[in-house]
Amino acid sequence: MEKESRKRDNDQRSSQEGGSGDGMPRFNFMWVYILIGVGLLALQVTKFSGASKNATWSDFERWARKSHVQRLVVVNDKEAYVYIVTDSLTASKEHEGIKPTKKTLLSADQPQYVMNIGKVEVLEPKVTKLNESLQKEKKPVITVEYDQRVNWGAVLVTYGLPLLLFIGLWILIIRRVGGGAGGPGGQIFNIGKSKATLFDNTAKVNITFADVAGLDEAKEEVMEVVDFLKNPKKYTTLGGKIPKGVLLVGPPGTGKTLLAKAVAGEANAPFFSISGSDFVEMFVGVGASRVRDLFRQAREKAPCIIFIDEIDAIGRARGRGAVQGGNDERENTLNQLLVEMDGFPTDKGVIIMAATNRPDILDQALMRPGRFDRQIGIDRPDLKGREQIFQVHMKNIKVSPEVTASTLSEMTPGFVGADIANVCNEAALIAARRDKTAVGLDDFNYALDKVIGGLEKKNKIISPEEKRIIAYHEAGHAICGWYLEHAHPLVKVTIVPRGLAALGYAQYLPKEQYITRKEKLLDDICMTLGGRAAESVVFDKISTGAQSDLDHITRLSYDMIVNYGLSEKVGNVSYFSMLGDSFNRPFSEQTAYLIDQEVKNMIDLEYTRAKKLLRDKRMQLDALASALLEKEVLHRADLEAIIGKRPFVDPKPGESATIPDVEHIHGGDEE
Ligand code: ADP
Ligand code: ZN
Repeated sequence: MEKESRKRDNDQRSSQEGGSGDGMPRFNFMWVYILIGVGLLALQVTKFSGASKNATWSDFERWARKSHVQRLVVVNDKEAYVYIVTDSLTASKEHEGIKPTKKTLLSADQPQYVMNIGKVEVLEPKVTKLNESLQKEKKPVITVEYDQRVNWGAVLVTYGLPLLLFIGLWILIIRRVGGGAGGPGGQIFNIGKSKATLFDNTAKVNITFADVAGLDEAKEEVMEVVDFLKNPKKYTTLGGKIPKGVLLVGPPGTGKTLLAKAVAGEANAPFFSISGSDFVEMFVGVGASRVRDLFRQAREKAPCIIFIDEIDAIGRARGRGAVQGGNDERENTLNQLLVEMDGFPTDKGVIIMAATNRPDILDQALMRPGRFDRQIGIDRPDLKGREQIFQVHMKNIKVSPEVTASTLSEMTPGFVGADIANVCNEAALIAARRDKTAVGLDDFNYALDKVIGGLEKKNKIISPEEKRIIAYHEAGHAICGWYLEHAHPLVKVTIVPRGLAALGYAQYLPKEQYITRKEKLLDDICMTLGGRAAESVVFDKISTGAQSDLDHITRLSYDMIVNYGLSEKVGNVSYFSMLGDSFNRPFSEQTAYLIDQEVKNMIDLEYTRAKKLLRDKRMQLDALASALLEKEVLHRADLEAIIGKRPFVDPKPGESATIPDVEHIHGGDEE
């Protein structure tokens, strides 16, 4: 939806920006072709409706005897053209209204009469017979001429028109690609221009932080950017470094675009909005030149914000999945973006904000200092967040008093801001259709059903039963983290479904490996298994929800044995530098078997340990799960309030296992 409106903005803009071309109606090539086509058709028609009249053999015989006939031409063995002597045309009453022969542009001399002859074999004897009698009367005889004529009009219509259509179509395509503005011919040169929509003094961004509900942490982080844009001198005189790029990471519809717009609105700065996919075109070099153009425009308007939505469209890691250099164009575009980001100093006041929900596939080069060095995770809203978003969107519609934001937010687990905006709009539409004066709860219910129906197709809605399972699963992780000495306790437990990235992403950032003791790794495995263990302990059933957990521990346990030599049976070996090619294993079948056995043993052991721990702490587990069901999000302090202080000192950051599994990803977004 947002996209469409953006496109609409774009169109409006480009029509405004018509600039010099304003007032002068745009010349449309299509009309020329239509005119030519009509002209050709007209030619065809005149040929038949025109001067030539039909004649019969007896007419012809009569004229021949009167010596009126100048020529008789058999055309294409089908018709006979009769040309009358010019003097007779005027002298004789017989030919009244018939004009003298004339030559037209596309056909030969126009005959005065056309005779349908059927077959030449029939005509010839008749002419011979006529000539015999003409000779007797001492009158000029008739010689039959034969002619094969091409009807140029018809040829043009059959061959020329398709050609013209083809050319027209081609020009249309080129214009599309060129993206609108400019006169004819200008289009083709506009192809390298950026398609960014500019919101500035003329098309102001009137969105402020008040329009963005929730997202308090994110807002706080971007406040700095706002402050800088308002007051760049203050920062630059002190030599402070402002981030050049801010990457907003989160699932679609959570308000990333909205937040970026609000930053521009708050700072009263121009705002360029473009989608990553707008850079990518089928022509080589276009993407890079669009990037250049965008940054040139931005520098002119500085201080300002460039917002690149869906940056993954160009920011994908280079060289990955490149089939025979098929991605060259995208790589060029990305390189140009990197060059531009490096190319201007921070104090120029151009800040780039970008949004993605797939930070994992972004090229590492984008994350380097001086580029998108700041990442802000934007999560799906929790209960409180949803309530605030409902409040924002309910301001614009007339709701009856029985509808409150808090009841609505309880009914919409898993909804993102865009879904909520959608629900409010639908409800208002339905109420209007029912001729109501205010939007009631039943309207909202109807709208909810409709929106949920749409979301269910995308598999994004959780049933109450699933919610219970998820609550226990997450509580299982949390309990294990709390009561295992070497595990890294969770800082936040949530059952709000989350996409691939969001806050969890920050945890993947440190690429360095720390020296980790074996018991830490084992505790990490145990804790990661805690989710599935809880499901098993409580429901005696397990679900698919643990896929990413299992993936993580499988990788980790193979790592421990194959790379870090942490298994007694396999021994102090590391195949780290020798692996990498599964066809060429550096170890024997037997060792491979042993490794598999060891991995299985280790995981089985930890799974049993997790289940035992959870049985021992069943009371705490139940308490956490029900608190989660009620509040959706629990922080460290909530945990302490519910199950008491953690009996161990927390491991220092970096001392925990390889990848702290703070966020568990369940039912991720596929988009
Ligand atoms: P994203 O860019 O993350 O895909 P958008 O910023 O385009 O999402 O959000 C789409 C719409 O959803 C917004 O225009 C707004 O109406 C609504 N919305 C999303 N998040 C919020 C929020 N936190 N507060 C208010 N409205 C929101
Ligand atoms: Zn889990």
